[in-house]
Amino acid sequence: MSAQLIDGKAAAARVLAEVAAEVAVLKARGIEPALAVVLVGDDPASHVYVRNKVLRANEVGIRSLEYRLGANTSAEAVLEVVAGLNADASVNGILVQLPLPAHIDETRVLQAIDPAKDVDGFHSENVGGLSQGRPVLTPCTPAGCMRLLRDTLGDLSGKHAVVVGRSNIVGKPMAALLLAANCSVSVLHSRSVKPEKLCGQADIVVAAVGRPLLIGADWIKPGAVVIDVGINRIEENGRSRLVGDVDFDAVLPVASAITPVPGGVGPMTIAMLMHNTLLAARQQHGLTAQE
Ligand code: NDP
Repeated sequence: MSAQLIDGKAAAARVLAEVAAEVAVLKARGIEPALAVVLVGDDPASHVYVRNKVLRANEVGIRSLEYRLGANTSAEAVLEVVAGLNADASVNGILVQLPLPAHIDETRVLQAIDPAKDVDGFHSENVGGLSQGRPVLTPCTPAGCMRLLRDTLGDLSGKHAVVVGRSNIVGKPMAALLLAANCSVSVLHSRSVKPEKLCGQADIVVAAVGRPLLIGADWIKPGAVVIDVGINRIEENGRSRLVGDVDFDAVLPVASAITPVPGGVGPMTIAMLMHNTLLAARQQHGLTAQE
């Protein structure tokens, strides 16, 4: 038996098509959703991420604004840019690309973003709302994982879900979203004892660790659905390649469905960012889900 491949590229294309269609409807009503991306410093990976976000925004008809600031920019100068974007009614979403240079307090900058424009869902107002089950802007990667899980399993109610990793950007919001979907949720982390034991009982495994190939076949219950968030670059036979936190080849014959890396969760993250920007624009114009 071999697990079904969960095609993140195809799922992301569906989300982007939905967003593009809704953006067209808003534009016909005179509303042009806009996303501002703030990038500080010269981290090459961050530059690639920002370029991709801007490209996707343009593809779905969302106006994009880019603010590229030098590595020595002061925290105050970054906060000034954020304050300007908060005050600009034509800007619906604000994303500050992480990581910020070490001299800038990330939390201070993220907390300065208007929660209504916080399309990354990292402001404490949105984090709190998520844990209280209020409809808020939710972090894009876990939201993308939820889409993939619902596409694969339909109703998640009553499933035992194990999240491996407890970061603020993936593990914790993932656990909150699974709980909101009526799963029984366990969260594993670096201090967990014999994590493979608990993980081996899960119907759903979401791996967000950042350790290449950590999760082998002995961690997975036969028939489980496995979502691999990890993106790790490894050297093999003199060549470098991307792998997840899950040992894909070993788990493939055990799981019932699994995301590949690359081509699984990765494409969903940007798609959900566009979805969040659309949601933010609708909310700021007082439109409900039906309008
Ligand atoms: P963090 O480093 O912030 O968190 C890693 C988590 O894994 C921590 O909670 C840590 O535990 C836990 N952990 C570490 N070692 C083990 C272990 N041996 N067993 C169990 N748990 C362990 O990473 P992120 O959440 O930011 O990212 C995780 C991965 O996902 C990375 O590979 C990252 O590149 C990728 N990623 C992919 C995205 C995408 O779009 N596809 C988006 C964001 C991230 P503790 O808290 O105890 O330290």
